[in-house]
Amino acid sequence: MGGADTAAGGRLVVDLAAICENYGLIAKRVSPARVAAVVKANAYGLGADRVAPALARAGCRDFFVAHLAEALAIQPLLPEDCTLYVLNGLMPGAEWLCARTGIIPVLNSIEQATRWLETARSAGHALPAVLQFDSGMSRLGVCQEEARQLASDPLFLAHVPLALVMSHLACADTPGHSANAAQFEAFDALAALFPSVPRSLLNSAGTFLSSGSRGDVARAGIALYGGAPNDAPVNPMQPVVRLDAQVIQVRTVAAGDHVGYGHSFKAERDSRIATIAVGYADGWPRVLGNRGAAWFNGVRLPIAGRVSMDSITLDVSALPEGTLGLGDWVELIGPNQTIDQVAADAGTISYEILTNLGARYERSYLDARRSIRSEAA
Ligand SMILES: *Cc1c(COP(=O)(O)O)cnc(C)c1O
Repeated sequence: MGGADTAAGGRLVVDLAAICENYGLIAKRVSPARVAAVVKANAYGLGADRVAPALARAGCRDFFVAHLAEALAIQPLLPEDCTLYVLNGLMPGAEWLCARTGIIPVLNSIEQATRWLETARSAGHALPAVLQFDSGMSRLGVCQEEARQLASDPLFLAHVPLALVMSHLACADTPGHSANAAQFEAFDALAALFPSVPRSLLNSAGTFLSSGSRGDVARAGIALYGGAPNDAPVNPMQPVVRLDAQVIQVRTVAAGDHVGYGHSFKAERDSRIATIAVGYADGWPRVLGNRGAAWFNGVRLPIAGRVSMDSITLDVSALPEGTLGLGDWVELIGPNQTIDQVAADAGTISYEILTNLGARYERSYLDARRSIRSEAA
């Protein structure tokens, strides 16, 4: 490794080839439906400016973000035949920017639909949109009455051609949950009001459900980034992220010594403690104090004491003395510790681990010729 990696305390590697492989895997699952990539929140923290163009090269043409600003940021990086959709909807004041840039708002209410219709009428041409139904999550989208109202409004249908009708599953990561069948049924009934419009219901977990219709467009996020789409024992997705932290000190402590803030760790025996240069300011969950671990040479190194802002202390006594020293790197995310394991230890979900990944890491991207797996070997 070159010199640049010694300037940051953490090294984050994002495998773009693995993201594209995951895209292909989901595409095969939902075929003949197509897969839209959800690249909101900076592609779940991994860098939308690199991830979205890589997916476009792999054939993806539809990209969902949460905010209009996120769409504006990546639009110049994508081929012109790509379409960007804003999940959070059409905010007051954003109409002309949205119309001018050709970014497609998801209309989540009658109020948004009305404003988009007015914009199209003043523009003098049709303005496409996505219409979202609330099929049982009670978060965003029009209800059945409102959907009926729009479906029977010739002015709306003429000026606002619908690129998609969509809804979102609340419980798809629990395949046996009764809400799934209810949402499929509710969505089918609502979508039938707009017979010729393509349908989009499935998120990553949804593409792994055995029942329910696939629709025309699946919206995949976490599965592209290597997260387990549900709690099945085997995660079929390729790992995408590798995170290593640098050792900044190794010291010995005597039995009875305490480690870190609040003295929350007490050495039961003489121990070796390594301090690494990643902390909660880098998005490593503070709740992992005395719970999480790092890895070195296949050995688990438990976190000893609290997670500090810029550092973490590890009990490295399980390693032979002298194995680990100043400047060495330990694994925080990689073959020994997946994002799902980190999330489970932290009592959260892989989405939160990824979207919190810090700004101080030295980030690098692997393309089709190099992959995390070949690097690890
Ligand atoms: C975030 C989001 C997705 C992607 O969900 P994953 O579980 O990451 O696949 C799809 N649709 C909507 C509406 C979302 O908000």
